[in-house]
Amino acid sequence: MTRVFCARISWYTGRMKLLRKAGRSAFKGKTVLLRIDLNVEPGEPLDSYRLEAALPSIRFLLARGSKVVILSHRGRPKGGERRFSLAPFAPLLAKKLRIPIDFIHAARVGALNKAVSASRTRVALVENLRFFKGEEANDPGFAKALAALGDAYVNDAFAVSHRANASVAALARYLPSYAGLELEEEIVRLGEVMRRPARPFALIVGGAKIADKVGVIEYFWKRADFVLLGGGPANTFFAAEGVPMGGSLFDPSAFPFVAKYRDKGKIMLPVDSEIGGAKGDERILDIGEVTARWFGDLVKDSKAVVWNGPMGLFEKKGFEKGTVAIWRAVFALAKKDPRARIVVGGGETIASLQLLKTSARGGSASGGKNLFLSTGGGAMLEFLSGKKLPGIVALEGQRRKTLR
Ligand code: ADP
Ligand code: MG
Repeated sequence: MTRVFCARISWYTGRMKLLRKAGRSAFKGKTVLLRIDLNVEPGEPLDSYRLEAALPSIRFLLARGSKVVILSHRGRPKGGERRFSLAPFAPLLAKKLRIPIDFIHAARVGALNKAVSASRTRVALVENLRFFKGEEANDPGFAKALAALGDAYVNDAFAVSHRANASVAALARYLPSYAGLELEEEIVRLGEVMRRPARPFALIVGGAKIADKVGVIEYFWKRADFVLLGGGPANTFFAAEGVPMGGSLFDPSAFPFVAKYRDKGKIMLPVDSEIGGAKGDERILDIGEVTARWFGDLVKDSKAVVWNGPMGLFEKKGFEKGTVAIWRAVFALAKKDPRARIVVGGGETIASLQLLKTSARGGSASGGKNLFLSTGGGAMLEFLSGKKLPGIVALEGQRRKTLR
């Protein structure tokens, strides 16, 4: 058993240093820079499932005796607008971890080092990295300045690993760098359904834009037995066939994609829909009851499921039923078949879990043994399209670098 497990892990993460596998005393007395994803839009609750997913790595490092310097970003600030500050996250993290946390206010790179050195708490949170010029430019100078703050770097921010930003990519060049617990799990669990998914395999795609999701459908085209479409992607197929769509959401730029895949048998389009909108401006806002039951049955009879994108405008009452039906089928499958492999991701898709009034990520950080809730939106789509993510590439080939 152990050998199979090791082989599986090394298949996906073999070229990386893993936080989980670092020696017991590797981080003792060291300062570790931990990149996590705290990003939520101003006005949204601070307590995201991404924050929750990063806690195990923080606790792990604390238990190993290190000082943890947390790096993150928030939103797309033009300058240093206060509403994008990470300051409110310091008390929230302190409460969750039950330890005091210093917030590092420094507005200039030059002041960072002094502020971090002056911090006496075991965890410190640095201000929104996008307030600094070099972050989004993946600037080596800025990455070096960050590297000077610690002895080692851990990336535990899968959801931003598709961005070539200094704290995600360039920083790994200057320090011994590790994949955090959450990042490792993402790579392994997404990798599992990509490389050898059990059959039957259902790929479910809904949400707003189909253009972002074409890559995933193409990657899984040969592996999937069914491609179930709802939301904007389904609408786009109907629109391409000339069905009158009123004000429904669809994406004409994906018509060539529709032409290529329409007649290939695997695409399952809704057979009924929920219509909303004003009179004269009717819109398809959800899959219908019959479709919801049909899709649900297909999911329950699958061995592998990958799902991104809600089936309808679930935020509006009356148009959430299709999405709820898929969630129920997903949980039913997870309960019935311990060997099933189910991966769900996407910002709104995971947010729609609230409709079921369950705790965000099930019992464990990730949802359970056979059900994995990814923290990635764009990052998950890129990973599942077979693309190399800059944040993951940066961690590869690190095995020779050692901590001093
Ligand atoms: P995710 O964030 O999970 O990747 P997307 O960003 O692609 O998903 O899309 C999510 C949004 O799509 C949701 O806010 C939902 O309301 C919307 N949506 C889904 N189906 C429809 C539809 N038929 N009409 C309008 N909006 C829809
Ligand atoms: Mg979204």
